[in-house]
Amino acid sequence: MFYYITNTWEKIIASLYCTMWKHKNIVPILLVLGIISALLALFAVSSWWWVFLVVFVWLGITTWGSFDVRQSYFTDVFYKKQRESRRRIALTFDDGPTPMTLEILTLLKQYQAKATFFCIGKQINKHPDIFRKIIEEGHTIGNHTMNHSKGFGFLNAHQVEQEIDSCDASINDIVPHKPRFFRPPFGVTNPSVAKAVQETKHHVIGWSNRSLDTLITDENKIFDRVSRRLVPGDIVLFHDTSNKTLRVVVRLLEYMQQENFESVTVDELLNLQAYEH
Ligand SMILES: [Zn+2]
Repeated sequence: MFYYITNTWEKIIASLYCTMWKHKNIVPILLVLGIISALLALFAVSSWWWVFLVVFVWLGITTWGSFDVRQSYFTDVFYKKQRESRRRIALTFDDGPTPMTLEILTLLKQYQAKATFFCIGKQINKHPDIFRKIIEEGHTIGNHTMNHSKGFGFLNAHQVEQEIDSCDASINDIVPHKPRFFRPPFGVTNPSVAKAVQETKHHVIGWSNRSLDTLITDENKIFDRVSRRLVPGDIVLFHDTSNKTLRVVVRLLEYMQQENFESVTVDELLNLQAYEH
């Protein structure tokens, strides 16, 4: 009985959190609180510190929502398969194709694992044969913008849309697929990204297990970080851009084999369509 009550409350809180924890709900609430506290301060009923506090909270929530892709704060983000009953995970590789992608493909074939590659348009133009090989070997591809600009978080909605459309066009030059999956560079979401993906009709794909393989130099630490936290339903983020990642992925595939984990594509894990035909 107690478990039932707890479970029900958990469900209510979780669903409230999912529906309320959105930029479009939080901003009006904070705006009202800001106006009330400003009026109270203006008439010397309370301190201006309350206004600063509201602004501070707004800044905090906005920053958190922008950089933590799992929050789905600005737009819905698929970042893991909830309540996955089978021992399935999805390995994902960003920022390719590069010559390193070929090594990753060989490894995946050896371990009969499938993965999802979020490709950059300009990299596809540089390595069309490698890009084609990813698809030929049964993996899924997704859009990771045309240029992967460092200032991606500061682009307006129109510019984000152009970045997505150009990458789709590069993909379409090689294969007759329009991808439905989009992963924003650096996992940044904001109102511009939300508007752009609504226009271009892409699903935003995040991650639940981040390797930090472009930041951490010690490959033992990367392997430990990913393997210790690996749970069914995880979407794991790697980059097919370095030898270091390749060495970590060998160990991870070996570990997954021992632990009976299977790597499937994101579309298979989430039961979504990867392409528009
Ligand atoms: Zn990236």
